[in-house]
Amino acid sequence: MKAIRFHQHGGPDVLKFEEAPEPKINANEVLVKVKACALNHLDVWVRNGGPAWKLPLPHISGSDISGEVVEVGTLVTRVRLGDRVLLCPGISCGRCEMCFRGLDSACRLYTLFGVFVEGGYAEYVKSPEMNVLPIPGDLSFEEAAAVPLVFITAWHMLFTRAGLKPGEEVLVIGAGSGVGSAAIQIAKLVNARVIATAGAAWKLEKARALGADEVIDHAQQSIAEEVKRLTKKRGVDVVVDHVGAAVWDSCFDSLATYGRLVTCGMTTGADLKLDGQQLFGRQRSVLGSFMGGKAELVEALKFVAQGKLKAVIDSVYPLAEAAAAQRKMEGREFFGKILLHP
Ligand SMILES: [Zn+2]
Repeated sequence: MKAIRFHQHGGPDVLKFEEAPEPKINANEVLVKVKACALNHLDVWVRNGGPAWKLPLPHISGSDISGEVVEVGTLVTRVRLGDRVLLCPGISCGRCEMCFRGLDSACRLYTLFGVFVEGGYAEYVKSPEMNVLPIPGDLSFEEAAAVPLVFITAWHMLFTRAGLKPGEEVLVIGAGSGVGSAAIQIAKLVNARVIATAGAAWKLEKARALGADEVIDHAQQSIAEEVKRLTKKRGVDVVVDHVGAAVWDSCFDSLATYGRLVTCGMTTGADLKLDGQQLFGRQRSVLGSFMGGKAELVEALKFVAQGKLKAVIDSVYPLAEAAAAQRKMEGREFFGKILLHP
């Protein structure tokens, strides 16, 4: 099959469009002909490499996959040939206490498509039956691939970690990112008041179209000052961050008493300071969040089927142009998900 692989870590140039062996399925697995695969920042971390990524090479990236089932293993009962499916990106054992509790990403064996197993930058991918879900409603393959990772992540951050309640006020950092565009919509499901930030006027317009009640241009305005003004000095109940160091102080200063700052990533660095006085005095919480569970994806998909949550697609590239697609993502000139089309 054709696939995008890298044989060494590095910049986008290490991505090669080449022949790769077609995956061989086990009895509990299915083979999926990939119709669309969405990019995530994770792909760039994995490609760049580092101490946390001791991967077998060559490697196939891609965690967000939709496609058609073309082969099923002998123990597979729930999935049939020809099914239009999307894959839950996180793979866990399904047999430990954390898996039983629906906290898949806390499983000791947790990994993702495109990390320690081959991903969707290819014509075919194999998946455990457990990870295969029907595409809801009349979603296109592109829309289906754009949903899983960021909606699981944002759902887990807002509900499971930060305990968002109806009518609370939420600050979403980076509305143009996949997680940001998902978080705005999920917070609106429970009628939260959403304040979203972005670094360009065209992105702020799109954030409003997704449901943001207020927007802050973080290239022109101070986030903390604007939040103070918009909340009449109260601050917000929840801050959703995935950027880290560059906005950390602004996020923490934007919290109300009893506010919760939840973060799922540190794209600008992870060296953070914490004002302990404000932490205990204002009874604030700082929460880490990483991916989520299949149950959370299943819940989010119900709203996707009803059209109440929507995949936000920036652009679609042919598989062979994966390097250009990743360059676009690293350049930040996008809103929503960038996809590949085998
Ligand atoms: Zn487990």
